[in-house]
Amino acid sequence: MALSLQVEQTAVTWEWGSALIVGRALLWAAEKKRVQKLVTEGKLSRSVVTRFVAGDTLEDAITAIKELNARGIGGILDLLGEGVQDAVGAGAAFEEYLLSIRRIEETKIDTTVSIKLTQLGLAFDKGACIDYVRRLAAEAQAIGTYVEIDMEQSEYVTDTIDIYKHLQKDFDDLRLALQVYLRRTPGDLEDMATIAPKVRLVKGAYKEPEDIALEKGKEIDAQFRFLTTWLFDKGADPGIATHDSDLIAHAHRAAQSSGSDKGSYEIQMLYGIRRDLQEQLATDGYRVRTYVPFGSAWYPYLMRRMAERPANLRFFLRALVGK
Ligand SMILES: Cc1cc2nc3c(=O)[nH]c(=O)nc-3n(C[C@H](O)[C@H](O)[C@H](O)COP(=O)(O)OP(=O)(O)OC[C@H]3O[C@@H](n4cnc5c(N)ncnc54)[C@H](O)[C@@H]3O)c2cc1C
Repeated sequence: MALSLQVEQTAVTWEWGSALIVGRALLWAAEKKRVQKLVTEGKLSRSVVTRFVAGDTLEDAITAIKELNARGIGGILDLLGEGVQDAVGAGAAFEEYLLSIRRIEETKIDTTVSIKLTQLGLAFDKGACIDYVRRLAAEAQAIGTYVEIDMEQSEYVTDTIDIYKHLQKDFDDLRLALQVYLRRTPGDLEDMATIAPKVRLVKGAYKEPEDIALEKGKEIDAQFRFLTTWLFDKGADPGIATHDSDLIAHAHRAAQSSGSDKGSYEIQMLYGIRRDLQEQLATDGYRVRTYVPFGSAWYPYLMRRMAERPANLRFFLRALVGK
């Protein structure tokens, strides 16, 4: 009995440990240009990419969002691409975001627009980046929707929060993604308590060192629950972004305890993940939004999705060798 228990525990530890190693390797690969070349120029079948990405064009994403809207689910439009290196690239991304907002107005789809600040030049020109975000927030507000700011690697967190706080004064519908795994996040939220921040709460998807980020699943879940409750007490219109049923159930309980109704918060998920749960929540009368990525720069996004669930890897590798 004791022996079999020990064997079982070793198997669980090994499984967890190997998943962690595979996950870390994939997050490392997500940031390596040479691996990217190998994968994107390899035989990667479209089936792997299209499972998580709506398509190469804005029109592909609009079609996907129309289908979601027909099932009572809103969209979060995401133009793939990050880490733009120069002003020309940032200007081009801005124009693409602007075009997205125009098409939202024309097609009347129910969607917000998510932006990555490194696509708008955060790494080399913070001033220009702020101007771009301000203009996008104004355009979105003018057509009755709003901008959501993604959170990226830890080196950009301070600037991203600064920009949110700066623009939130003029655009209180702006939403900021905050990563639960970062040890600093509870303090960042406390610092924003007086402005009742509108936050998208996510576990966090990047490879970060242990001194700044929690690594154990249980610790991340506990911090997720704590911060969810915080958002219902002190935030505005919380966006709980997870596919984890236990954490979603916690959000429902936190909403009830704070006297919030179903319309006062949102559950957000990613395109292609837990579609059953997305539909069930919408049918049950909850506000649900799905993050819909589109564009040709899908590589880092796809690798992060693989890292979250190494079980996807078998599917991915089979497609890579064309089987
Ligand atoms: C709307 C939205 C926006 C996001 N924005 C950001 C952002 O700005 N910055 C950032 O760092 N991260 C962002 N993320 C990603 C987030 O940080 C997590 O990496 C991701 O959501 C997976 O964590 P989870 O909470 O779903 O929990 P997990 O513990 O990873 O997953 C819970 C369950 O969901 C299912 N699942 C999860 N992932 C997958 C997958 N890839 N394939 C198949 N099944 C899966 C499985 O059933 C799993 O058991 C966002 C996520 C969402 C939903």
